[in-house]
Amino acid sequence: MLYNDFNGLNVSRLGFGCMRFSTDPVTGAIDQDKVDAMFDLAFSRGVNYYDTAYPYLDGNSEIAMAKALEKHPRESYFIADKFPGHSLPGPVDNVALFHKSLEKCKTDYFDFYLLHNINEWSLKTYESPEYHIIPDMIRMRDEGKIRNLGFSFHGGVDLLREFLDKYDGIFSFVQIQCNYMDWSMQRSEEKYGILTERGLDVIVMEPCRGGKLAALPEDAHAKLQALDPGASDASFAFRFLMGLPNVKVILSGMNEVVQVEDNLRTFERAALLSKEEEAALSEIAESLKNGVPCTSCRYCCKGCPAGLNIPFLLECYNDLKANPKSFNSTMRIDGLPDDKKPAACIGCGQCAHACPQHIDVPAVLANLADLYEHGPNWTRATEGRKAAIRRDLNMD
Ligand code: SF4
Ligand code: SF4
Repeated sequence: MLYNDFNGLNVSRLGFGCMRFSTDPVTGAIDQDKVDAMFDLAFSRGVNYYDTAYPYLDGNSEIAMAKALEKHPRESYFIADKFPGHSLPGPVDNVALFHKSLEKCKTDYFDFYLLHNINEWSLKTYESPEYHIIPDMIRMRDEGKIRNLGFSFHGGVDLLREFLDKYDGIFSFVQIQCNYMDWSMQRSEEKYGILTERGLDVIVMEPCRGGKLAALPEDAHAKLQALDPGASDASFAFRFLMGLPNVKVILSGMNEVVQVEDNLRTFERAALLSKEEEAALSEIAESLKNGVPCTSCRYCCKGCPAGLNIPFLLECYNDLKANPKSFNSTMRIDGLPDDKKPAACIGCGQCAHACPQHIDVPAVLANLADLYEHGPNWTRATEGRKAAIRRDLNMD
């Protein structure tokens, strides 16, 4: 197993993401026997970083994780958990909610604790004086209940810079979505560079982009097999990230024992990509994108009569095209005022003339407006999570 120094702690580079445990299709109950088997295997081969979150699996991930770990001494593993500021039913007793997570995880401290999912929409809640989240979490850290405070991030590059400037010195690590497809598509390369430059450790989520890079189309799979026969598609995605020295932990949301075994082999072998393999992954990433080639040059923005942030909207469009079920983009658009949403485009065409990439921006924004209108809706999807918080805090 590969290990890294993470703020003075010796953490395994492979982290166990606890959001995809198998559940009973009827009752929703987690298959605890399978979780135990996966954890036993991972733990015995050196995985010591376990990542959960209050809302994962309807609030049951924390409990299943704690059950699978309780046979080991608490100091032999690290727990990362998250505060659900992006799915609250309204202002709540943050400290009581935090303690509820401690109780479910059977611990009295978190090694790593993150503000869950900072983006253009959730920022309003996280920064609201009424919600009072950041000061409360700083207090938990100062009381020793949080050893390392960080945040997970799904927003754009500009927001990342602004947020880090505003809270300089508060957070010691950041969790970002990063993989060989998002390296350019979600501008993960820039985000990784910003965090590294500022001395912040990076945790990676979605290394296989929700499974897309673990089950490639036949031609892409064949291309990789020619380079490393017998290797899984997922192993290439992990090896891409192993080449980034400031990525301290790579999370994998494992839900089968064979998957754990395959990932362990990849991290034990610890082989970096060859030049040929890197080139093959770049080609595959391009072939999977299915979006528009916006470079964020912003030549189109100055003359837009609606004052739209066009590259931001095109980034959301590309993300939605690559993963139509993802909430990330629709949430980010939710954070815009109505007159800055894609439907506010008046179709004047100025941007298309200005664009060196010849993108038909008005047509793309009309498509995005439609995808946004009919796509995944975060507010509806989080009703269950909000109800669980109300129940846990006896708010009903
Ligand atoms: S077509 Fe839409 S996005 Fe482009 S400049 Fe006109 S209003 Fe702005
Ligand atoms: S001009 Fe074209 S490439 Fe540049 S930001 Fe606008 S849409 Fe993107």
